[in-house]
Amino acid sequence: METNKLILDGNIVASSIKADLVPRIAKLIGRGITPCLATILVGNDPASATYVRMKVNACKKLGIESRRIVLAEDTTTEQLIQTIQQLNEDITVHGILLQHPVPEQIDERAAFEAIQLHKDVDGVTTLGFAQNAFSLAAFPSCTPAAIIAILDFYNIQIEGKHAVIIGRSPILGKPVSLMLLNRNATVTICHSKTQNLEEIVKLGNIVVAAVGKPKFIKGSWIKAGAIVMDAGYNEGNIGDVDYEACLIKASAITPVPAGVGPVTIATLLKHTVDSAENSFFSIL
Ligand code: NAP
Repeated sequence: METNKLILDGNIVASSIKADLVPRIAKLIGRGITPCLATILVGNDPASATYVRMKVNACKKLGIESRRIVLAEDTTTEQLIQTIQQLNEDITVHGILLQHPVPEQIDERAAFEAIQLHKDVDGVTTLGFAQNAFSLAAFPSCTPAAIIAILDFYNIQIEGKHAVIIGRSPILGKPVSLMLLNRNATVTICHSKTQNLEEIVKLGNIVVAAVGKPKFIKGSWIKAGAIVMDAGYNEGNIGDVDYEACLIKASAITPVPAGVGPVTIATLLKHTVDSAENSFFSIL
């Protein structure tokens, strides 16, 4: 491996975020509030079950309570919304995470919208998205926030850079584009109908891959010295970036695994603790 390359180590960033949470959680528990994240898993998708388990385990390690709700594959939208409403009303729950994707008979958007804004710790509601777009108080989606946290941790300048984002999903590509724009990057968003993708990616000082296709971003597409952020997570622990080939061109790059993934989970824990603190101050 070349020595002048900066490998953006997500485990180090995640440890730093979690270390900051330890005294805050202790203080909350001292005040009689245990931060609590409710996770909702609908159906039998094994990958989703793994993601939820990783989040629950991460909570446990820090002393954050997790309320694990598992609903049957044939759950209706109404049943799911009813469950979410119960969690909204439960003052001991500070964050609600509905694991995406849900079975196809469910109106996922309607279910996301049922989550109360102050418990929307993964920024999935339209109001949360909009507030985040305006740099207001709502929690941003965790993966976009993790990408920004990694850049900040390594003191990588965002302002003035040309950021090229490949992907425009509501939980990843779109919010990370807005967050980079709010940090004064010049932003280009690419998607499946983009023409001359390779030429556009070559303009990026910061390239964010959020496509959902293994090794989709090729080394030859990367401008020399660019920062490459791989949000992808595909079967077999493979990112959306052809890591070895992009490493040759990039000045800094996130690996998969141990890049964006662990920081996403640490960000979810942070948002849950933030929400628990907000609940304490709101009753004073
Ligand atoms: P998604 O909803 O499937 O969105 C994929 C995006 O990629 C869409 O905007 C799509 O464009 C675009 N795209 C597809 N094919 C393309 C092509 N040939 N050229 C250019 N753009 C193309 O996926 P997602 O939920 O955003 O997830 C993206 C990746 O991030 C996945 O690998 C996922 O596993 C990973 N992920 C990781 C974390 C984490 O914690 N690390 C969290 C969430 C997601 P259209 O809009 O035109 O269809």
